[in-house]
Amino acid sequence: MDNTKYIFVTGGVASSLGKGIISASLARLLQARGYSVTIQKLDPYINIDPGTLNPYEHGECYVTEDGAETDLDLGHYERFLNTPTSQANNVTTGRVYQSVIDKERRGDFLGTTVQVIPHITDEIKSRIRLLGNTGKYDFVITEIGGTVGDIESLPYVEAVRQLRWEMLGYCVVIHLTLVPYLAAAGELKTKPTQHSVKLLQEQGLQPDIIVCRTSHHMSQGMRNKISLFCNVPPTSVIESIDAQTIYDIPFLMLEEGLDREVLHKLNLPAEGTPDLTDWARFLENLKNPERQIEIALVGKYVELKDAYKSIIESFVHAGAANKCKVQLRFVQSEAVASENVHEMLSGVSGILVAPGFGRRGVEGKIEAIRYARENKIPFFGICLGMQCAVIEFARNVLGFTGACSTEFISETPHPVVDLMEDQKKISGMGGTMRLGAYPCQLKKGTKAYEVYQKDTISERHRHRYEFNNKYIEAFEKGDMALSGINPNENLVEIIELKNHPWFVGAQFHPEYKSTVANPHPLFVRFVGEALKYEKNTELF
Ligand code: GLN
Repeated sequence: MDNTKYIFVTGGVASSLGKGIISASLARLLQARGYSVTIQKLDPYINIDPGTLNPYEHGECYVTEDGAETDLDLGHYERFLNTPTSQANNVTTGRVYQSVIDKERRGDFLGTTVQVIPHITDEIKSRIRLLGNTGKYDFVITEIGGTVGDIESLPYVEAVRQLRWEMLGYCVVIHLTLVPYLAAAGELKTKPTQHSVKLLQEQGLQPDIIVCRTSHHMSQGMRNKISLFCNVPPTSVIESIDAQTIYDIPFLMLEEGLDREVLHKLNLPAEGTPDLTDWARFLENLKNPERQIEIALVGKYVELKDAYKSIIESFVHAGAANKCKVQLRFVQSEAVASENVHEMLSGVSGILVAPGFGRRGVEGKIEAIRYARENKIPFFGICLGMQCAVIEFARNVLGFTGACSTEFISETPHPVVDLMEDQKKISGMGGTMRLGAYPCQLKKGTKAYEVYQKDTISERHRHRYEFNNKYIEAFEKGDMALSGINPNENLVEIIELKNHPWFVGAQFHPEYKSTVANPHPLFVRFVGEALKYEKNTELF
C-alpha cells in the first residue's frame, strides 16, 4: 500500500511505562475500525536478537512463526491483534550494524566513509519501511525501545526525524511520558514531561501526541499546561491511567480518543466508534469470574515474572474462557525435593512445568511431575517441562535408573531425551535452535486430538533436544502415548498419559499462539481440567 501510514512511539522520563501496551492498544483500536495494522519494535541493544539473553536480563524471548527470537513486546502485539508478526517486526542495533558492516565488506559503499548518519540511519529507515512496502498494512506502528536521552537511542530518533520529512503527512509521533504523583504535595507533576519533550525537540523531533502515564486522573488544567509547554493541542494530551489489567487499555485509550487524534493528524475519517464487541466480552469474563483456582507454575526464573510472560497471559485468556480466575503459585524448581514437594504443591488444582535451559532446577521439575502423576493432578509440561516428564516416566515407571537428557548428563545410561540429529554439527549459540512453526500430526483417539479436533496442527518451537526415538517402543508399552508427531522428521511433539485425568506434555510452545481472540486450546482445556479436579477434591 503506497498509502501506508507510520506511527512512531517513543518513551521518556522512565522505562517500563508501557509503550508496548499503548502501541498494541492503539493498533487494536485501528484494527477495530477496519484497518490492517502491524507493530514493530526497534531495540537499541547490540545483541543481534534476545535469543542469547538470559531471561533474568530481558524477560521471555518470544518466538514468531518464521522462527525469529524476539522481544516479549511482540507477544503483546500478537495477543492484542491476533495477527502473526515476523523477523521484520523486531530490529536491534546489533542487526542494523551487522547488515551495514556486511555491506561495507561486500564493497557496497566503496570509496565512502561509513557513518552513523547516513548509513546506520538509512538502514534503520529501510527496516521501518520494509513492513510498509509489503503492501499489506494501512498502518505500521514502530515502537522505539529505551528512553529518549539514552545514547543508544539517538540513531533511531534521528531516523524518525528524517523519515518524517521524507513522508510528510504520513507520519505521527507519539511520546509516552510519566506524570508522577507526589504524595507529600498531593499533586501530579508535569515538569518531567516538559523536560522529556524538550529533549526530544533538541533531537529535532516534535511529538504530535503526548500520552501521559499516571496513577491519578489529570485535570484539564494540567492537560492545558502540557499542551502549552510542549507545542501540542490540549486534545493531543492523552491520559494513560494505571489500569487493573493491560486488557483495559484499549478501552481507556478509546475514551481518551487516542485513535481519533491519530486519524485526525493523518487526515483520515475519524467518525464512528471501533467495533470492540469481542474484546468487551472477553473483559466481562475476565472481570467476573465465577470461580477461582490455583495452578502451580514450576520454573527456575520465577523471581522474574516477565520470564514467563506468554504463559501467564495464556492463563489469563484460558481463565476468561472458563469464566474462572487462575491464581498462579510460582514455585522455584530448584527448591523442590521429595521431602517438601507435598508442602510446596499441595492445594493446587494443576501443575505446569515451564520451559528452560540448563541443569539447574531440573531435578525439582522432575519431582513436581512425579507428584502430579502419582496424585492424578492435571499436568501440563512445556518444552523442557515435557522433556522432564519423559525422564520422570522413564525413571519411575519404566525403571530406567539414571535416565536423563544428554543436555544435563551426557553419559546417562538412558538418554531418553537427546540432541536432535541436525543440532549435532552446530556450535554457535545465536539463532541455531529448532525455531518457529512446524507441523505436527495428531493421533486419533488421544487427548491431544480431542483438544484440537484436527489431524494436523502447527505450533512454534525453540529447542535443541528431543524425545529419543530409540525409546518409542518402551514408552508405548507403558502408559504413555506419543500423541503428536512431526510428519517430516518423525519427532515426538506431544506426550500424554492414558490413565491419568490430564497429563500432557508438548515439545512446542503453545503459549506463543494464545491470543485474546483465540485462547490456546491446550491452555483452555488444562484450566478446564484443573476446575474439574478442584470440584472433585471438594467432594471429600
Ligand atoms: N533445553 C531444552 C532444549 O533445548 C528445552 C528448551 C525449552 O524449554 N525451550 O531442548
